[in-house]
Amino acid sequence: MNKPLDLASGIKDIPHWIGGAEAPGTSTRSSEVFNPAAGRVTGRVPLANEADVDAAVRSGLAAFPAWAATPPLKRARVMFKFKELLETHQDQLAAIITAEHGKVFSDAKGEVTRGLEVVEFACGIPQLLKGEYTEQIGTGIDSWSVRQPLGVCAGITPFNFPAMVPLWMIPIALASGNSFVLKPSERDPSASLLLARLLKEAGLPDGVFNVLQGDKAAVDGLLTHPSVSAVSFVGSTPIAKYIYETGAKHGKRVQALGGAKNHLVVMPDADLDQAVDALIGAAYGSAGERCMAISVGVAVGSVADALVAKVAERAKSLKVTQGMDDTAEMGPLVTRAHLDKVKGYVGKGVDEGAKLVVDGRGLRVPGCEDGFFLGGCLFDDVQPGMTIYREEIFGPVLGIVRVPDFDAAVKLINDHEYGNGVSIYTRDGDAAREFAMRVQIGMVGINVPIPVPMAFHSFGGWKNSLFGDHHMYGPEGVRFFTRMKTVTSRWPTGIRSGAEFVMPTMK
Ligand code: NAD
Repeated sequence: MNKPLDLASGIKDIPHWIGGAEAPGTSTRSSEVFNPAAGRVTGRVPLANEADVDAAVRSGLAAFPAWAATPPLKRARVMFKFKELLETHQDQLAAIITAEHGKVFSDAKGEVTRGLEVVEFACGIPQLLKGEYTEQIGTGIDSWSVRQPLGVCAGITPFNFPAMVPLWMIPIALASGNSFVLKPSERDPSASLLLARLLKEAGLPDGVFNVLQGDKAAVDGLLTHPSVSAVSFVGSTPIAKYIYETGAKHGKRVQALGGAKNHLVVMPDADLDQAVDALIGAAYGSAGERCMAISVGVAVGSVADALVAKVAERAKSLKVTQGMDDTAEMGPLVTRAHLDKVKGYVGKGVDEGAKLVVDGRGLRVPGCEDGFFLGGCLFDDVQPGMTIYREEIFGPVLGIVRVPDFDAAVKLINDHEYGNGVSIYTRDGDAAREFAMRVQIGMVGINVPIPVPMAFHSFGGWKNSLFGDHHMYGPEGVRFFTRMKTVTSRWPTGIRSGAEFVMPTMK
């Protein structure tokens, strides 16, 4: 879809979605939404107050009993229809994402596809909720365990995947019989409203799915609301930790996925061109604004010089422009504040002594002079003590750390506070197997740069990349959005044995 940048249209109001319809809310606070390629305001989104939070939660609460009692097969049929509608509206949704996030259109379509796959998984909910049954657990007694929905669940999501991350949560939460309040990122809130409309069109009863626009006040309202049963969060680590602690303190079930610093190890025996392709795509795709982006290349032994030279050559020639241009490989950063923050990290890397091999800070994009663009940046000789190594930059900045051998590479990665994703490029099966076994990271790629698990597995990091017990979507998602009930049953036989005062045991 090759389209010129829209520099003319006005500023639209982006509402909440409560009780099956758009709702303006009662708050007087709002936030500007940008088209980051144009660098101009295109929308205004309300920032919910306590009354708005309460309205969204009450809407979910009122709809919950009937939806929870709806047979799983009927709930699955809504998901089947939703899947069909998402497919039909994939381009529309992707264009909305590109307009507010900035990522290139083909990448935005990829994001929708990865979300769609969770809807496909949720279509199998009757099978997933079947539970377990033991006949004759005691003489004349049967027992079964089922998984039941929790109630009103809240999802709080980051700016970088405005459709995919909500779709990690919504299909499983809804198919399991919960109602849901989504609090999307205030930086790119429009995708959530198209999801809401499509769910309604798919036959979801009003009130089962709600969108609450807002910032910290909305999040705090959800975390402390007595009628919210569970909170699923994806975002940066400091906020994830806060969500986990505050939600738990208020008695909620919480899963909170945080930030990342993902390494890609290049062994001396790796196919160098393959490894370079992997680094370029995974470091600069979506301008590095992915929780599974590779931000550290670990060059093992003799591979370093050749690797840095090849990556540098490619990083310099990245096609950076507005995301609706078919030739774009990388779009802008999400806001000017984020652009300035990422540029600040580049400056800090230079100050702390890393070698800036490619500097994208001077980039000018013709036709998008006001956009929030940064060209690809590449550092060599990054050291573990440097700020650009320790902290998540979340921009198109790749740092190369040189290590002498495999053991040093594993130690480097295991010593880092984050543990989301990691990858190794090698032709040596022993090295790959040993790596997968020893590395302290939740998602591991072997000659795969971004090992995001498919929808029927589950997604989650270790260490400071995830707070809580459950990974996201897949079987773990079903466990998170349901709780177990076990029934032990005996039908009256007419024989009375009198009251028993000892612990029941099998007779
Ligand atoms: P963020 O933490 O700033 O915001 C995430 C959500 O929390 C948003 O909805 C935001 O409104 C809300 N929020 C922000 N500040 C808050 C506060 N003080 N109190 C309560 N709520 C608050 O994250 P972001 O900048 O939108 O997204 C980028 C981050 O998300 C990166 O760190 C990235 O690694 C992470 N991320 C992680 C994963 C994962 O699966 N682990 C996936 C995608 C993104």
